[in-house]
Amino acid sequence: MVTCTGCALLCEDIDAVVENNRIKETRNACRRGAARFRGCINRLAPSVDKKPAGIDAAIKRAAEILKNAKSPMLFGWSNSTSEAQTKGIQLAKRLNAAIDDTSSFCQGILIEKVLQKKFRTCSLEDVRDRADVLVYWGSDAQDSEPRHLSRFSYFPRGEFRQRGYEEDRIAVAIDVRESNTAKICKGHFYRIPPKGDRKFILALLDALSGKVPAYDAKRMLELAGILKKAEFGTIFAGIGLTYSIKDELDILVSLADKLPNFHIMPMIGHYNMRGFDEALFRETGFVNRVKFDGSSAAHDNRYSIVEALRQKSIDALLVVGSDPLSSLPRSVLTHLANIPVICVDPCVTLTSRIASVTIPAAVSGVEAGGSAIRMDGRVIELSKVVENNYLSDAEILTRLTEEL
Ligand code: SF4
Repeated sequence: MVTCTGCALLCEDIDAVVENNRIKETRNACRRGAARFRGCINRLAPSVDKKPAGIDAAIKRAAEILKNAKSPMLFGWSNSTSEAQTKGIQLAKRLNAAIDDTSSFCQGILIEKVLQKKFRTCSLEDVRDRADVLVYWGSDAQDSEPRHLSRFSYFPRGEFRQRGYEEDRIAVAIDVRESNTAKICKGHFYRIPPKGDRKFILALLDALSGKVPAYDAKRMLELAGILKKAEFGTIFAGIGLTYSIKDELDILVSLADKLPNFHIMPMIGHYNMRGFDEALFRETGFVNRVKFDGSSAAHDNRYSIVEALRQKSIDALLVVGSDPLSSLPRSVLTHLANIPVICVDPCVTLTSRIASVTIPAAVSGVEAGGSAIRMDGRVIELSKVVENNYLSDAEILTRLTEEL
């Protein structure tokens, strides 16, 4: 069995059929996972100044750019192995660079609260074996972590939930639209207006306190009744919820305090976002937006990729396993045309197309092993399924550091 790196569920039960060093078929993987094992449509090749180059020359030029930069930033990391992330953080320290990852504009704020132990949390195995009430909040798990419901949450029979979803579990969806996950939640879908999560939480807090809520009183009291009766509940907090209340996350802490039998789990798409956030948190006490200076580390919004590009405060960018050109607002991207960009990735991306230096990496979990951290914090080993000549992301970071 091998591990899929298609999302942060890191399914370890994938059967990969290999013939002549090629993956002929995968069993148990969802459609997204199967695509991950098929690899890139367009494989990245090494280049310097948009001209083909050898891998050694590309790494050497990348090291020169980073060494000569006065304020470099190292960005990406959510699709990198834990080993590469650790080396990336050490490289940022050595360069006195800023370092940020994609959690900076999605689940980082929630992951940080979990690492600070502001919420009770649990493992996915606990959910499978014990959970009787599941709340998918701003999260369409069916689409973003496709085997979540079937492996761990709603459908499986767990040690203490032998009658499974038919009798032992209630699934609730709270979302702005009736997602595929909400459709499975039958009569327990609560539609809220965009940015309506705060009002919904306040009304739910009223209902849980025995007051008549000001907002949709009948359904809110019904939901409060379901949550109060839970023996083991979990709120799967998606980016819909995080985006909506990101400046007021303490109201989610208040809700968790009112529900002593509930756990909060951030829903994470990229396979090792939690790994990077945990590694940087261990090193600095922050999960993203950090700038090293000697032995100290400063944390500020200025060190997020979005603000750094908007303020044009960086003069070189190393991107590892990410495609900021496809995910960031256009208004901040113009600065990328003025600075050297180094792209480390297995595949051709929009970012690799504008990069001054491209360094192809092996596909983690397919062409290179390593480890990663699942969305619930468990360390999962990644396997090497086929042989190839590509360097792993960790090896590239080692080579880059040596060239400095
Ligand atoms: S749910 Fe995620 S980890 Fe599991 S097979 Fe699908 S893409 Fe891969």
